[in-house]
Amino acid sequence: MTSTRTPTGSERLVAGPVSSLPTEHGMFAIRSFTLDTVTHAVMMMGDPAGCDSPLVRVHSECLTGDALGSHRCDCGDQLGAALAAIASEGHGMLVYMAEHEGRGIGLAAKLQAYALQDEGMDTVSANRALGLPDDSRDYTAAAAILRELGCPRIRLLTSNPSKQHALEELGVEVVSRVRLPVADRPENSAYLTSKRLRMNHDAPPETDTEESSAQLPGVDADIYAALAANEEVVAQLAQSQDGFIATRTGDACFVSGSTDRTHLHRIRAHVAAVLVGAQTVIADDPQLTVRAVPGADPVRFVLDPHARVPVTSTVLSTGPTPTVWMIGAEATPRANVGDHVRVVRLPPAASPQDIIAVIRGQVAGSILVEGGGRTVSSFLAAGALDRLFLTTAPVFIGDGVPGIRFHGSEVMAQALRTPFRRFELGEDMCTEYLLSRASVAHSQPSPNM
Ligand SMILES: [Zn+2]
Repeated sequence: MTSTRTPTGSERLVAGPVSSLPTEHGMFAIRSFTLDTVTHAVMMMGDPAGCDSPLVRVHSECLTGDALGSHRCDCGDQLGAALAAIASEGHGMLVYMAEHEGRGIGLAAKLQAYALQDEGMDTVSANRALGLPDDSRDYTAAAAILRELGCPRIRLLTSNPSKQHALEELGVEVVSRVRLPVADRPENSAYLTSKRLRMNHDAPPETDTEESSAQLPGVDADIYAALAANEEVVAQLAQSQDGFIATRTGDACFVSGSTDRTHLHRIRAHVAAVLVGAQTVIADDPQLTVRAVPGADPVRFVLDPHARVPVTSTVLSTGPTPTVWMIGAEATPRANVGDHVRVVRLPPAASPQDIIAVIRGQVAGSILVEGGGRTVSSFLAAGALDRLFLTTAPVFIGDGVPGIRFHGSEVMAQALRTPFRRFELGEDMCTEYLLSRASVAHSQPSPNM
């Protein structure tokens, strides 16, 4: 066998037995591979060796990000998104690389580098100040494992071109680099920007919203495409299992997870207008812009019959995204709103249909009613919505700010039932109610039921 020695280390690789690992992303097979006393884990779904170029994630161990829930880096989000992407295809593999902590410098040095970053250094400068390399990860074991498992040709789930090149040097054919749909968080955006500027990581895609729609695992791209193609009125709300959008003190950070946030931003990127009620602006001071995905901001409409929203709110004070402040005929708008704000008068006792007509007078395209619970509920009860995306998070709040509430029916036979589709958004469940088709479900039950 000495004649078949390769630089990949395959001949020194020791494989453990296969066992099953049920996860939130589905059932995986798991086994260990040990190379030179270092043991790595491989999670596999379906038959990746039977695919021409299976989806593969070569994930570097990160205790803080993967296990402790740290938002300093995006490792935990990448790990979850990679497993979700593999589960969505039904075939693929995640190689979990041991001794890759802190890009190879180890946990103690990584935490030392964190301390320097707390004083203002970026991730690259901190490593150099400690006399450590920017990136000392070795992928020999990953290449050997891929070869051993019959996957010499892969699509690699990563934003890191260096990882691709390292695997290619070791004989793995990377046919494409697949970016995971992971949004930056406020706590890690500086870190991720440093990796893009100083370590050549891929930036988020610029303009191709159709392609990025397809990358949200488990969600059909046509859910978003229809928003751009038609003039729909849709609503989106994330609520707890017991139907609340915030606690009784108004705390709403966060009810649903980051995948639901990506979904929301994707809807915003496909509509012409986003509408929120005054109370939502007062309580949450949202930006209502598109940040987690590529795409243009919708025009922001603030429904504020009594002109209660403070002019210091983000939507009224910060451009350039155009904002329309919809106030009642009697209300007096305060001066000093930004140049990006237009004031429009609502008809007296405006119904949801009246409000839609006012918006349609300003912009053409689909409208997103984004909150809060009262505004979305009033549009739902008035039959003004074509679709409602209702995300339910696996959390109980007990009491607080209600989500969907309206004057209901006396009997179940008259309750609002509509066709729906359902998809998972990370840990959350989104139900898309197809309300413009509600009449189908409203047909009378047959007499023999
Ligand atoms: Zn990390």
